[in-house]
Amino acid sequence: MSEEIKEKSASAQLKEKLFLSKKSGCLKVTAEETEAADSFCEEYKNFLNNGKIEREAVAYSIEAAKKAGFTEYDRTKAYAPGDKVFVNNRNKAVMLAVIGKKGTTEGVRLGIAHIDSPRLDLKPIPLYETNDLALFKTHYYGGIKKYQWTTVPLALHGTVVKKDGTAINVAVGEDESEPCFCVTDLLPHLADEQMHQVMSKAFNGEHLNVLVGSRPFNTDEESESVKLNIMNILFEKYGITESDFLSADLTMVPAGKARDVGFDRSMIGAYGHDDKVCAFPALMAAIDAELPEKTIITVLTDREEIGSDGNTGMKSSYMADFIADLAAADGMQARHVLAKTTCLSADVNAAFDPTYASAFEANNSSYINNGAVITKYTGSGGKYSTSDAAAEFMAKVRRVLDDADVLWQTGELGKVDGGGGGTIAKFVANLNADVVDLGVPVLSMHAPMEIVSKLDVYETYRALYAFYMQK
Ligand code: MN
Ligand code: MN
Repeated sequence: MSEEIKEKSASAQLKEKLFLSKKSGCLKVTAEETEAADSFCEEYKNFLNNGKIEREAVAYSIEAAKKAGFTEYDRTKAYAPGDKVFVNNRNKAVMLAVIGKKGTTEGVRLGIAHIDSPRLDLKPIPLYETNDLALFKTHYYGGIKKYQWTTVPLALHGTVVKKDGTAINVAVGEDESEPCFCVTDLLPHLADEQMHQVMSKAFNGEHLNVLVGSRPFNTDEESESVKLNIMNILFEKYGITESDFLSADLTMVPAGKARDVGFDRSMIGAYGHDDKVCAFPALMAAIDAELPEKTIITVLTDREEIGSDGNTGMKSSYMADFIADLAAADGMQARHVLAKTTCLSADVNAAFDPTYASAFEANNSSYINNGAVITKYTGSGGKYSTSDAAAEFMAKVRRVLDDADVLWQTGELGKVDGGGGGTIAKFVANLNADVVDLGVPVLSMHAPMEIVSKLDVYETYRALYAFYMQK
């Protein structure tokens, strides 16, 4: 090789020293790392396909944890450094802990992601018949652009609990051999009035009715016989009657599997990246973390998309109570542990979308393929409703990520006053712990098909692992 190496100009050298690098993340990682990212994401796609709702994600995570040596936590038992335990919160949230060499005495390290995603929940009395069609009434869960959920194949997921306590898990519409369901939309020929309405009016919540059948039970002229036929099919398959819908968590989610996106297969398109795309890296980091310094706790929580209220959400005391139990075993007070606790709130941010560039502030946006994104604060209307990580904690996190050669970036959620949002970070901060958001940039967030980069998924795993295993 006789290529001449040109001396960089003085300003180029100074820029390198003083400026943040603008080089694409893809150019900063080795071919081996890209390959490792691709193979990590094969298992991630499996997690997505088998964990569309929080109950399924909990079941998947517990099974994976058990295989890796985690046992169900028993607060009357004594645990030693290196021991691995899990706590199942009502089959809708799960905590995985690895006991550290120092236990809880100097605080614990938390990684928290959520496993609920926006969707169309069935109403308590969902099934009705009109004009010889059977439909389900739904009540959407989380923030959605309603029009996106029309005319896409949907699958029914969830659990029905009968009066005697028997639980029946339901999943219909994922396999091509099974039927799927659909919210209809008006044809363009007749949509003149609809097209002139503002979007929020053109598609309202009561339009989100899911088509589930059209044939009558038999030929006699009984009314509601299409509904009767559907109820009869459900009774034959699951042994349920209409009143069993009252004690059910049933929901419609986009049907189908996660797919590679792009000729280069660099991205993944799927339902529910927000926030399984952080939950899976957090789960894997927990499984791979052997004998950490401080006890690490990975929390896969529920309810984030609707504000974290409820006993399986982060406004519940379930995580603090677990920390209190671990603290008591070390002769510590929970509040002293929490005050020294640090947390990565593993949640997504909006990736810069060139098609909608005006919604973003380019300097402070996160970008596909630039690695895990740290979001110092979220909120809206002048940093309302956000914890805003302190400079001291930001410095620690920077150091940990750089020491482990993690590809990372920072990002704000869109331009100032462009809207806003929040994560569970503030609820953890309110416990008097240090916390910052770190996760994967997502295109088309909250849509039936969201898009992430494989490299970013893997770097988020590496970030969480480095955070857990730091000295
Ligand atoms: Mn999220
Ligand atoms: Mn979300």
